[in-house]
Amino acid sequence: MSTISDAARMIVEQAERGLPIVAFTGAGISQESGVPTFRGGGGIWERYAPEEVATAEGFFRDPARSWRFHEELRRTCLAGKPNMAHIALAWMENALRSLTNCPVITQNIDGLHQAAGSSDVTELHGSCHRVRCVECNFADEDLPAEFPELPPRCECGELLRPDVVWFGEQLPHGSFDRARLLAESAGVMMVVGTSATVQPAASIPIAALQHDVSLIEINPVCTTLSELIDVTIRDVAGAALPELAERVGQLLNGAGDSECKRE
Ligand code: NAD
Repeated sequence: MSTISDAARMIVEQAERGLPIVAFTGAGISQESGVPTFRGGGGIWERYAPEEVATAEGFFRDPARSWRFHEELRRTCLAGKPNMAHIALAWMENALRSLTNCPVITQNIDGLHQAAGSSDVTELHGSCHRVRCVECNFADEDLPAEFPELPPRCECGELLRPDVVWFGEQLPHGSFDRARLLAESAGVMMVVGTSATVQPAASIPIAALQHDVSLIEINPVCTTLSELIDVTIRDVAGAALPELAERVGQLLNGAGDSECKRE
């Protein structure tokens, strides 16, 4: 029996008990959309030092440099379309709708789960498609294709910053607590495309484990979580998740209408 069949059976069994099927995703799920991972070669991280552009200290030292990095990242995210992995998760949510919920907890800031149609997405690290003022309560998610000048400023005169979580910062109010609750109440957690090294996000699958939630890992390489995982699928997400969704569909519907295809 292949691991994909094991994973599909596990998902359907838990969904039939009414337990949520949660996905916990990282940069790897968007790699096939052209959004580079931190640790992969050829990405924008090779040209910017994270401590200079993705920390509060780096931002306030040189806001224009930090903004140039974030604008490049935003353009990359806007150019990237949801890939078959994002689409398969949204498809599974629909297929399992009458049985249970399929929330997504993501470390990504690219908005690709929402673009694929997932309706319940908790963004642990914010979104590159939103800004907020460093001083007042102003926040905006209707951003121009390009800011006329960098750094952009709020009407109050202070700096605007991307609404993302930088290294050393607290996670957005409520999102970490919600993610923990989702993890602890899940039937299955699919851990997709994350090295599980960035804290406190990496504690979310551990919280699931501590509540006896079954874990499925989808990643082409071993991670620090791998030895704790129930079912490991050593493949890229864009290949593994559509196949998994299709098997789930077959278990739910018999051999019939279960193909997970790009719209
Ligand atoms: P990471 O870069 O630490 O790890 C990426 C993981 O994805 C690796 O384990 C790698 O083996 C795996 N991977 C690579 N290609 C894959 C594929 N096609 N299918 C499945 N897995 C694949 O990423 P992280 O764990 O998410 O942590 C890095 C931090 O940087 C997070 O906060 C993350 O959100 C952020 N980040 C986000 C984006 C984005 O929004 N798309 C991009 C880069 C970094």
